[in-house]
Amino acid sequence: MNRDHTCGELRKTDEGKHVKLAGWVAKRRNLGSIVFIDLRDRYGITQITFDENHSDLVKDVRNEYVIEVQGTVGVKENPNPKLATGEIEVIADSCRVLSAAKTTPMIIADETDALEDLRLKYRYLDIRRNPIKEKLLLRDKVTTIVRRVLHEDDFVEVETPILSKSTPEGARDYLVPSRLYKGRFYALPQSPQQYKQLLMIGGMDRYFQIARCFRDEDLRADRQPEFTQIDMEMSFADEEDIFAEVEKVMKAIFKETKGVEDLQFPRIRYVDAMDKYGSDKPDLRFDNPMVNVTELFKDSAFAVFKNAVEEGKAIKALVFHNACDKLSRKKFDELNEFVKVYKAKALAYLKYDKDEFSGSVNNALPQEEKLALKDFLKLENGDVVLMVADKKAVAEVALGAVRKKLGEELGLIDHNKYCFEWITEFPMYEYSEEENRWVSAHHPFTAPRDEDVDKLMSDQANCYSRAYDLVLNGYELLSGSVRIHDSQMQAKVFDALGLSKEQIRNKFGFFIEAFEYGAPPHCGVGIGLERLVMILSGTDNIKDVVAFPKTASAYCLMSDAPNYVDQDQLDFLSLEIRKD
Ligand code: ASP
Repeated sequence: MNRDHTCGELRKTDEGKHVKLAGWVAKRRNLGSIVFIDLRDRYGITQITFDENHSDLVKDVRNEYVIEVQGTVGVKENPNPKLATGEIEVIADSCRVLSAAKTTPMIIADETDALEDLRLKYRYLDIRRNPIKEKLLLRDKVTTIVRRVLHEDDFVEVETPILSKSTPEGARDYLVPSRLYKGRFYALPQSPQQYKQLLMIGGMDRYFQIARCFRDEDLRADRQPEFTQIDMEMSFADEEDIFAEVEKVMKAIFKETKGVEDLQFPRIRYVDAMDKYGSDKPDLRFDNPMVNVTELFKDSAFAVFKNAVEEGKAIKALVFHNACDKLSRKKFDELNEFVKVYKAKALAYLKYDKDEFSGSVNNALPQEEKLALKDFLKLENGDVVLMVADKKAVAEVALGAVRKKLGEELGLIDHNKYCFEWITEFPMYEYSEEENRWVSAHHPFTAPRDEDVDKLMSDQANCYSRAYDLVLNGYELLSGSVRIHDSQMQAKVFDALGLSKEQIRNKFGFFIEAFEYGAPPHCGVGIGLERLVMILSGTDNIKDVVAFPKTASAYCLMSDAPNYVDQDQLDFLSLEIRKD
C-alpha cells in the first residue's frame, strides 16, 4: 500500500505517529528553504512540511504530481480552521514520486473560471474538484440508502437487458444494429418498463433497479441522453402501497443527507393542480393559487370579459400581496408578452392601493365590478391582481407560468424548503397534433380509473388514469402508475390508441401473451436519480451530478463519442452510410 492513512484522517490525537500518505499535490509553497505541500485525495487535504534537510526531496515536484510521503505527525502552532486536518502537519522524512503531471489545462480548485467545454474535455480533472466530487459522493449515498431501505422491505434488485426492444415511453430510441440478424436492431431501453412488469408476472413480487435509461430527445439543462432511474415495481399493491414505500425512501434520503425530518406528501388531483396552479408540477414552496373569477364577469360591462364568458372561456385571477410597488408598468408589459408564449392573448392587471384601483383594466371595468372582485378575492391595499380570459386550459397554463415566474422574482420561494406533492389521476391520453391521434399520456400499460373504463374508447378527452407523479419544489421527480393487468383491457387501450392488430403483435406480442398466464395486480414508479441529486445538491445543471456527462448536443467532449467507425465494422453490420 502506498499509504496507511488518507489525507483527511489525521488529527491532534495522532501526534507523534509515523505515517505514510499518498495523493496529489494541490499546492506547493516555499518559505525560505522550507517547502509546504498540500496533499490531496478524495478524503481531504493534509499539510506536509519538508524542512531544510528534506526540501531537496521535492525540488522537482509540481502541482498535481502524485506522491507518496512518509513523516511524523506534528501539532501546528497556527491551526488552519478551514481544513478538517488543520490542527496537524506531517513533517516529512521521505518522498517518492508515483506519477509526474503536466501543467493542467484548468486549475483544480473549488472556484474555477474554466469554461464548461474544457471541464468536460478534462472531466477526470474536474472530478478532482470538490464541487463535482461531493456531488458524486452524494449520489452514491442516495443509491446506498435506496438499496438499504428497499431491501429492508423485501424488494429485490434485478438487472434487466440494455440490448432490448423498443419501449413506448414517448421518446426516440437509441438503436444498436445487430450483426447476426441483418437489418435488425436492438433498442436501448427508455426505461425497464416491460421487463419490470414481466418480473411481476414472474412472481418476483417487489423489484427495484438503479437502471440506466436512454432517450434520444432534444436535450435541456436538466436532461441527458442517458440517465438513471430508481425503478420500482410492486405486486398485489395499489397507490397507497407504492406511495408509502416511496415516501419511506424519500424520508430516509432527506434525513440522512440533509438532516431534514418533517417532510409532508400532500396529494392533489391533476385537474385540481391545473385549476389552482396551472401546472402539473406546481412549486408549493409558496401558495398563491389561481382563482376562477369567470362567474363574476358574466354580465361585465367590459366586452372582452363578457364575450369570453359567453364563448365558454374562463377568467382566471392570481393575487400577489404587497406587490404594487414591486411590479412596474414595464414588468406588466413584459408579462403581457410572456403569456403569449403560452398562447394566451393578453394579461390584464389591476392594482389596489391606498383604497384605489389602477392598472390595465381599471378604466374598462366599472367601479362596482372592481369592488365585487375586491370582495371576492379579499383584496387588501398593496395587492395586485393578474387575470387571463381565455380557453380554460390556456388561461390556466399561462397564468400558472406567471405564478412561477413572479414567485421567483418577488422572492416568495423559500429556498431552504422541500415541498413534495403527489399529483394523481392524470389524463389517460393526450392528443398529438403531429400524429393526429390520441397517444398515451404516461405509457400504454397505465390503468384507467375504474369510473372511466367506459370512456376508454368513446371519450378519450375526459378519461383519467391511475398515473401519478411525485413533484418536489416544482420538479417532476418521478412518474408511475397502477398498471393494467388484464389482457382484454390492455387490448382495448391499444385499440383506443389506434394501433392495428399487426402493430400490437409486432411491438408488444410477447408482453400481452404474458398477461394470459396469470398477472398479479401491480404498480410502480421510476424516480429520476439525477434530478433528485440535483435538488439535494442545489444545482440546476444535470451535468454536475453525472460522472461523465454529454453536452447539450449529446456529444462526449472527452472521448469524442459518437464517432466514425471503420469500414470493416460497418461491413460486419451490413450498414452503409448515406452520403447526403
Ligand atoms: N417507466 C416509467 C417512466 O419512465 C415509470 C413507471 O411508470 O414506472 O416514466
